Amino acid sequence: MARHVADSCPGVLRLHEAADGPLARIRVPGGRLGPMQWQVLAEAARDLGDGNIELTARGNVQLRRVHDAEALTERLAGAGLLPSRTHERVRNIVASPLSGRIGGLTDVHTLVPELDAGLLAAPRLADLPGRMLFSLDDGRGDVSGLGADIGVHAVATDDFALLLAGGDSGVRITAADAVDVMLAAAHGFLELRGDDPGRWRLRDLEHGAERLADLLGLAPGPDRLEFAAGRDIPIGWLEQDDGLVALGAGVHLGSLPARTAEFLAAIERTVFVTPWRGLVVTDMEEWAAEQVVRVLAPMGLIFDADSPWLLVSACAGRPGCAKSHTDVRADAAEAITAGRVLPPTDRAEWETGHIEPKPAPRQGVPDVPLLAPADVSVAGRQHWSGCDRRCGRPRGTVTDVVATDGGYRVE
Ligand code: SF4
Repeated sequence: MARHVADSCPGVLRLHEAADGPLARIRVPGGRLGPMQWQVLAEAARDLGDGNIELTARGNVQLRRVHDAEALTERLAGAGLLPSRTHERVRNIVASPLSGRIGGLTDVHTLVPELDAGLLAAPRLADLPGRMLFSLDDGRGDVSGLGADIGVHAVATDDFALLLAGGDSGVRITAADAVDVMLAAAHGFLELRGDDPGRWRLRDLEHGAERLADLLGLAPGPDRLEFAAGRDIPIGWLEQDDGLVALGAGVHLGSLPARTAEFLAAIERTVFVTPWRGLVVTDMEEWAAEQVVRVLAPMGLIFDADSPWLLVSACAGRPGCAKSHTDVRADAAEAITAGRVLPPTDRAEWETGHIEPKPAPRQGVPDVPLLAPADVSVAGRQHWSGCDRRCGRPRGTVTDVVATDGGYRVE
């Protein structure tokens, strides 16, 4: 698909003018944030934004209603969250959050800083679109289904499948070569797209994956792995391989209050942002993990895998987005608290996620009734959107609840 315009993804230095004020997106490679970074984000959200930290579907974070961009830049740079002024928007890297701690064939988190440093070190790669996504999956299959442009998926301790345009390219590479090949693929994408800034993703190039592998001189083998948007998201008590404990936590509609983030900072552990708009608090003794649940569950973090909040995602809606027909987040929250978000009807489908998503229907479907907010009751995973663009819709099997000017359409 050619759009003829460069992507306009927001960053810290280029804010998005949302309907409720400037929005800053902060890249967090691998979703990894240390205690001091959580503290800085919490203070920035409270002092310079609307008081919340939004978690994104790429494991990044964003602040809304930023009223002092210069102060934000200074604070984030001081916390190591803005290591480059030229490359900030290209550092979209997701990695299996539990890698190196629980299961997996290898620890992909060791590769994240290497990949990030390689991106920052190459002046040409500052031209990558802000939409490009890199993924590193340790073999468990949690992030390979996210459709990254360039990714690696462990097939053995020291071997990876190279993923291009969201699928297995058939190319196999060693762990030692993984970062170099991903960086070469990023350069190759820029070469293939040439002067056309409207091609934001590798899939926008015709036969992009095949042409890129060819450009890199990498010969695909006959085997292809299949990836689905899995539902094996980490929630609750998780025993680490080293005997310590991690906690997976859901966040109400992906919006974390600054006060809760300050408590996360006080745990003094690495806390990952997951691409499912959740958190993983790592490396705790059992007694400490028990304390964390005791303090943070009443503050709204979700440690119960059966919570209906985990079934629901929503776009910004009003007042953040001028295109929205209504405040979808308020309506979605009301549906949850009123018990109108029902458990999945097919538990096996919910747990495995191994069902391909239906293509999103377009607006104007004639025979779908329009519902008042209080009449919407949906079972299983659902995404509420303020208009037909359906921003932030997760991959996998999801029911769409789409606002129109006459009520909600459920599809
Ligand atoms: S889905 Fe529509 S209303 Fe929601 S954020 Fe996107 S453009 Fe705005």
